[in-house]
Amino acid sequence: MAVQTVAGTADTTAAPTPNVDLGPAAALSCRECGERFELGPLFACASCFGPLEVAYELPTGAPEELRKRIEAGPDNIWRYAPLLPVPADVAEKPNLNPGFTKLVKADNLARELGVTGGLYVKDDSGNPTHSFKDRVVAIAVEAARAFGFTTLSCSSTGNLAGAVGAAAARAGLRSCVFIPHDLEQGKVVMAAVYGGELVGIEGNYDDVNRFCSELIGDPLGEGWGFVNVNLRPYYGEGSKTLAYEICEQLGWRLPDQIVIPIASGSQLTKIDKGFQELIKLGLVEDRPYKIFGAQAEGCSPVSAAFKAGHDVVRPQKPNTIAKSLAIGNPADGPYVLDIARRTGGAVEDVTDEQVVDAIKLLARTEGIFGETAGGVTVGVTKKLVEAGVIDPTLTTVVLNTGDGLKTLDAVSATSQATATIKPSLDAFRAAGLASA
Ligand SMILES: *Cc1c(COP(=O)(O)O)cnc(C)c1O
Repeated sequence: MAVQTVAGTADTTAAPTPNVDLGPAAALSCRECGERFELGPLFACASCFGPLEVAYELPTGAPEELRKRIEAGPDNIWRYAPLLPVPADVAEKPNLNPGFTKLVKADNLARELGVTGGLYVKDDSGNPTHSFKDRVVAIAVEAARAFGFTTLSCSSTGNLAGAVGAAAARAGLRSCVFIPHDLEQGKVVMAAVYGGELVGIEGNYDDVNRFCSELIGDPLGEGWGFVNVNLRPYYGEGSKTLAYEICEQLGWRLPDQIVIPIASGSQLTKIDKGFQELIKLGLVEDRPYKIFGAQAEGCSPVSAAFKAGHDVVRPQKPNTIAKSLAIGNPADGPYVLDIARRTGGAVEDVTDEQVVDAIKLLARTEGIFGETAGGVTVGVTKKLVEAGVIDPTLTTVVLNTGDGLKTLDAVSATSQATATIKPSLDAFRAAGLASA
């Protein structure tokens, strides 16, 4: 079979690693130097310490055939199994089957923002644990199975912990996840309810992440698959499915502009990778698209670097209500900067107050209650349209990556009953809400 190498700079086609069946995944390749490694629970290049990513032997042949095969697949991310590091029979295994969430044509919001070229909200609150994280975890579970890990773990800003707990429960794996101790109640409960171990760390996410890196190198963490550390190359690939779905839902067409929230930056870089693969495979027409990154001002290291024209990201100490995005030292920050600049996009941030306003704007115009991360993307979209950076005449997709029920505190003070009355018509009339 003819093969096509997509990831990395290497042009070699490594043989699939023996005994590890992760479908079209052929090897890991270093994003910096291109060196290739056998598939395994590795995340840093042995030569240059650069991050590793999955390189594929993707199907060649008529795009029309592949498109038909995808369209005939299940209504979840496994319809894209031929493009993911998962075994061919993945859909038959016990997992949460995330994905194929709604792409909502947001005409009311578009009118409010003055966007005429078509505005869409990709609403990932519809995933099994109500955030986009189910996508990345589903792929990491397959890697954990392939490498024989029996405990699933992660460092999390909240959503990931819930997604790992749920996926482990379904897959029959043990889970033990780590979060900053002061997260929103909705996230803590969701991380604990699936029955795995949940550990609150006295510190912020960056402290949690550092702790997990130490645990991996210690016998205490032996046999543990940390989805976003030693399984990170696989985990990250789950975000490509957002790119695939958006294009398929637009009728196999790239959006002109897309607004993506940034925590570690992984999601943004992998959506770009997904678009590039679809172009290479001939599944979409090769036309320019712009990628915009969105952060909260209280944790905006990538946005600050973008505006200053820097290539490196200076870490920050997070202080924002957008806790799911509160990573002060984002691993993929420099790659996000590259992509925003290469595609002609930008990285922007909004204040917590603008986040709250944007959550309510999306809810009021489209009936979608997003979490604070959704407030960040909608808020940044508004800001960039007003600044003339986002072109209102082009097709624009905005991601809502989580459910507002997880971050009720953000809006609870300003979202209360209009009136509280006695159960009588007189009382209702007195409240001034009657139609006549
Ligand atoms: C994790 C997360 C993101 C993005 O994470 P990256 O680390 O940048 O991939 C976006 N939105 C929500 C709600 C999340 O939980």
